[in-house]
Amino acid sequence: MMKAIQKTRREPGLDLVEVPIPSIQPDEVLLKVEATALCGSDIHFYNWDEFAQKRISPPVILGHEFCGEIVEVGSAVRDYRVGDYITADSHIVCGKCDICRMGLQHICQNLKIFGNDVAGSFAQYLPVPQTSIWPLSRDIPSEIGAIMEPLGGATQGVLIEPVTGRSVVIFGDGPIALFAAGVASASGARKVYLIGKVASRLEIARRMGAHVTFNVDDPVDPVQSILDDTHGVGVDVVVEMAGAPQAVKNAFAVVRKGGRVTTFGLTPKPIEFDLNYAVTLRQVTVRGVAGRHMWDTWKMLDGLLASGRLDPAPVITHRIPLEDCEQGFKLMTTGSRDTGKIVMFPNGMPG
Ligand code: ZN
Repeated sequence: MMKAIQKTRREPGLDLVEVPIPSIQPDEVLLKVEATALCGSDIHFYNWDEFAQKRISPPVILGHEFCGEIVEVGSAVRDYRVGDYITADSHIVCGKCDICRMGLQHICQNLKIFGNDVAGSFAQYLPVPQTSIWPLSRDIPSEIGAIMEPLGGATQGVLIEPVTGRSVVIFGDGPIALFAAGVASASGARKVYLIGKVASRLEIARRMGAHVTFNVDDPVDPVQSILDDTHGVGVDVVVEMAGAPQAVKNAFAVVRKGGRVTTFGLTPKPIEFDLNYAVTLRQVTVRGVAGRHMWDTWKMLDGLLASGRLDPAPVITHRIPLEDCEQGFKLMTTGSRDTGKIVMFPNGMPG
């Protein structure tokens, strides 16, 4: 038997349960989970909002950001062995549909996601299809191994087109936005601005390499300040990771003519904005980002970490046992929200 955090009931909250250790398919490995991270998207399931009710069918073990050691290998698995230290993309892809075959497998037509469509990583053990595995070096501590997936999202959001020598504005102060500040800075951006609303997170953003941060609750208008700072032209690149309707509008207000906006944050509902001005007449390039390219973005992230230029550690603010999962979600959703990334250790705290 193993311990797991499961969405059992169709109502707010989560359950700590004891369930059998899962068996694996021939093309899967069984992972002993060393570390797994809480994601903002899991808050939907915790709260059991409309999105959650449409997305998952309880009972489901949550969690899609993780790393650990392989303890069992399926009969069809050739490239991995017991004892290998791995992480995985959260996306489980078919490899056969037209989209996969065009090299966009991360947005596969038959996409499944850990902790949504199949059992997730808020557990002591987890089956992982070999096609989702990304091998890790033991130089990467487990708490970093557990956040490779969101760090990959940040890498994709920033580097879907080059940022070297370019000015970059990041909207949002959630963990992925904070990672994005680090990726932009590590990649040689000319100047990195980040706009958020939690003071402690803005402090982390500066430690990650943001040159200038703005708090939307302050009287200073960030859009006007950035326009002034760029002689009225606007910035080269905007990465929208807040998902607030006003942030989306401001993203297009602050980008220069011919610049790029990455849309990554999800708005709570559809919004209206002026496409003529925002995109067409100013020839702005919009790049939607969902997940991360498998596997060139992972390779790029691997290189950024190995270079020593990107250190995501400042974003990890809490390390907790699996049993404290619900407390973690409370920290993320109530009070001062002084949380960056929260990492859980289902098989015992490290060291
Ligand atoms: Zn596919």
